[in-house]
Amino acid sequence: MDAAATTPNALAGFKRLTIKIGSALLVDGATGKLRKDWLAGLAEDIAALKSGGCELVIVSSGAISLGRRLLGLTGKALTLEQSQAAASAGQIALSQAWTEHLGHHGIVTGQILLTPNITEERRYFLNARTTVNTLLGLGAVPIINENDSVATAEIRYGDNDRLSARVATMIEADALVLLSDVDGLYTAPPARDPAARHIPEVAEITAEIEAMAGGAASHLSRGGMTTKLEAGKIATKAGTAMLIALGTRDHPLEALTAGSRHTLFLPAPTTTAARKRWIMGTLDIAGHITIDDGAVRALKQGRSLLPIGVLKVTGNFARGDTVAILDLEGREIARGLAGLDREMADRVKGQKSDLIRDLLGPDTRTELVHRDNLVLLTA
Ligand code: GLU
Repeated sequence: MDAAATTPNALAGFKRLTIKIGSALLVDGATGKLRKDWLAGLAEDIAALKSGGCELVIVSSGAISLGRRLLGLTGKALTLEQSQAAASAGQIALSQAWTEHLGHHGIVTGQILLTPNITEERRYFLNARTTVNTLLGLGAVPIINENDSVATAEIRYGDNDRLSARVATMIEADALVLLSDVDGLYTAPPARDPAARHIPEVAEITAEIEAMAGGAASHLSRGGMTTKLEAGKIATKAGTAMLIALGTRDHPLEALTAGSRHTLFLPAPTTTAARKRWIMGTLDIAGHITIDDGAVRALKQGRSLLPIGVLKVTGNFARGDTVAILDLEGREIARGLAGLDREMADRVKGQKSDLIRDLLGPDTRTELVHRDNLVLLTA
């Protein structure tokens, strides 16, 4: 199955990785028990990557599958309440397993349980990101899962494929690795179509690529190829590469470094995405711009911030500095790079665009923040 020994390291050049481990890898489907030998091998791989200078964040499923057995929930389908109870009991076992196996290599683990509001709402998002970054800075490996025991049906990811993509983009990982029970994307689900061909690289997730994914999922994990492609869209749009690789084998990450077969989804080649990611991450806000309701609507429609909608400018910023954009209630609704400096912004605030060149000269830009340099913080 593997290509020749000369195949390049599939993880080369990635300094910050998010690795998603599916339930079907960690938990034996027949017995409901942890696959300890497999986890021991993976822990060795993680330790090796870490000593090579890589930072790793693990998104681990398995809580519900482990909890089922612990609570004696043997029925085929669990009710929502039963899965939440299973997640609660199983999460402790899952964390213990990670702590023990990574602990053998002197690696400290930190547990973070997320719900969608945490990755979507900026205040929580920043907090979660800071915690992950602090753990990484301290040399620990964060172990992340969805907080299944409290997340309700309406507000949960339900699959760790998409959750891991949100985590990868939140921490600006270079790559997200989905360890799965298949070694990548095929032209059709291989179980159904023996003639299906493996696809080594995907430059863009088009409708044609999406049509190749079947909806099938194993009974332990919720995600099939469809949620993996959704994860791929989240990751690649934000500039993070994604790999789908076979996780069921022993030492799956070591295998990747030896060039084992996988599908690589290339990050979107947009500098806008990278710039926006960078703007989101700026903690140093040089000024505040308060805008009227009309300007709020325009920003939400994807337009640039024009001086006419600006009511107040504070702070001391130069062109290119990061500014926070506030609504009338003082809520930060967007963040962007100033197109004009503070003094110019003050002079043109409230003015129509065609008067701005009269005020500032013929060569000036007329947007206070261009839409390519602007990130909305609310929906
Ligand atoms: N969060 C779930 C668990 O830990 C798994 C979801 C998934 O399989 O994607 O059991």
